[in-house]
Amino acid sequence: MEYQVLVAGGGTAGMAASLELARMGYQVLLIEKKEELGGQALHLACVATDQCQKCGACLPLQLKNEVINQPGLTVRTGHEVREITVQGEQQGDHEAGPGRGRRQYTVQVQSAGSNSDKEESEFSLTAYQVEAVIIATGFKVFPAELRGEFGYGRYAGVVSSLDLEQVWLKHSTLSAVYGQLQRVAFIQCVGSRDRRAGNPYCSKVCCSYALRMAQRMKWEFPEIEINLFYMNFQEQQRLLPPEMVLQATPPGIKRIRSIPARVYQYPGQKVVLDWELPASGKQQSNEYDLVVLSVGITAGDFNHRVSQQLGLNLDAGGFLETISPEDRSGREWMPGVFSAGTCRGPADLPTTLKQGKQVANQVNNYLKFNLRKV
Ligand SMILES: Cc1cc2nc3c(=O)[nH]c(=O)nc-3n(C[C@H](O)[C@H](O)[C@H](O)COP(=O)(O)OP(=O)(O)OC[C@H]3O[C@@H](n4cnc5c(N)ncnc54)[C@H](O)[C@@H]3O)c2cc1C
Ligand code: SF4
Ligand code: SF4
Repeated sequence: MEYQVLVAGGGTAGMAASLELARMGYQVLLIEKKEELGGQALHLACVATDQCQKCGACLPLQLKNEVINQPGLTVRTGHEVREITVQGEQQGDHEAGPGRGRRQYTVQVQSAGSNSDKEESEFSLTAYQVEAVIIATGFKVFPAELRGEFGYGRYAGVVSSLDLEQVWLKHSTLSAVYGQLQRVAFIQCVGSRDRRAGNPYCSKVCCSYALRMAQRMKWEFPEIEINLFYMNFQEQQRLLPPEMVLQATPPGIKRIRSIPARVYQYPGQKVVLDWELPASGKQQSNEYDLVVLSVGITAGDFNHRVSQQLGLNLDAGGFLETISPEDRSGREWMPGVFSAGTCRGPADLPTTLKQGKQVANQVNNYLKFNLRKV
């Protein structure tokens, strides 16, 4: 089978781009290294209360069904893109300028087989020749244990937001694991807006998911008291969808502008948070049943590799840079190479979905341009 476009990564961005291109009539090969399509969103739970909270976690499930049934779209799960090489400079490159011209790509794909005893070199590689490549390899969740001062992994009462998602996915309610919750704290910006951790950027998703989680908790435990520790109110307001701004301080959810300096827990007791109010310098302390670390988005491993293989630019956070920050098209500094989704920087599910569709249109334009050059 001859494919015109190869898409690396079967998360929201990769699925949206593949689907759109296959609908336009292209033969598309979508490679996903996990056994299942869906990306990180597979780990997100529905946080509906008596109404939908528009978290977007069900978007990828809908996409997945459409992808599986789409003619012209071949999916290989359990396979990983290892290497992308360009097949020489073709006529048209120079006159067309950066990000234009025509090239062919060889993409080496390996069976993921991570549970096997085989050495990496023993896995067979399959090479595909394609006209265009879309990189949609996503992100990594910040490992909460790297912020040692918060005691993640040491104290039973300190969990990450992703842990909460897992509990909701498995049990639909937090009481199944944590019992009756009376007081909970969220600590924002864990692993984001943090120069020491090498992540100076805002992760864009954690203010809104923390508020949705808090509202879901409030719905499960109406008497609960929730404190949300944050640093940048402006950032929070700017990033929240309008309906969340209106509900930003519902009763029982209090925001505190400070990041706790000390978190500790003695066996069998509650978690204690010590913090200082920035305006007055006053020391505060409180006990909680649970402390939730709102972990952010960090650059995925494939970014570095593909940047070395194709000479693509990475920004300070390790995300793929497109031709210009204003250029939302997903064109990379290599004709025929495009990117979409969180491999380009933090984004929520609706934004990644939109980027996937936008990049499909760019690839379509590029391939039409190519055909004129042949
Ligand atoms: C804790 C947390 C909570 C969140 N909650 C929300 C929320 O409530 N609402 C919301 O809108 N967003 C939320 N997000 C953000 C959301 O997860 C992302 O917007 C979305 O997953 C990004 O999709 P993506 O396709 O860019 O990347 P991913 O979902 O990371 O998908 C990338 C895919 O590429 C695959 N891949 C990687 N390398 C290769 C390779 N070399 N070859 C083949 N495949 C490869 C990966 O296995 C993965 O399946 C949350 C994020 C976090 C961390
Ligand atoms: S997963 Fe999110 S968007 Fe979907 S129904 Fe639940 S709350 Fe609504
Ligand atoms: S979205 Fe909110 S919590 Fe996340 S990094 Fe930005 S300001 Fe911090």
